Amino acid sequence: MNSQLQILIALQDILLLIRDAKDPSRRKQYGRIGFKISTIKPLEETLAELEGQLEPSIRTQYFRMKQRYGRVVAPVINAVCHGCFVTIPSAIHGAEDRNKKLYRCENCGMFLYWVEEQPILK
Ligand SMILES: [Zn+2]
Repeated sequence: MNSQLQILIALQDILLLIRDAKDPSRRKQYGRIGFKISTIKPLEETLAELEGQLEPSIRTQYFRMKQRYGRVVAPVINAVCHGCFVTIPSAIHGAEDRNKKLYRCENCGMFLYWVEEQPILK
């Protein structure tokens, strides 16, 4: 998988974790499974460190998506972007280098990653 894409997926996880950590009821849920969030500072430090590893042009798009949606990547499942639920053009969906190259949804702009298509989802 493209290393920038891996960083983006990690960033999105951390963004959601920070959002959850700021929500008292979510914090309580995490506490019940033994995951105590006492401070978000380490999360914010990791976030900044990973953001620094993005290539400048990707970082610009990342900040735009982060500000607009609070999310930056979306999975493509059965040729549908799960950021906006629009079908991905077959030229992109059928590309050999998906996950190896960064693609963005033409509709919502999110960075896309493909998951192996599961027969159960069809
Ligand atoms: Zn989309």
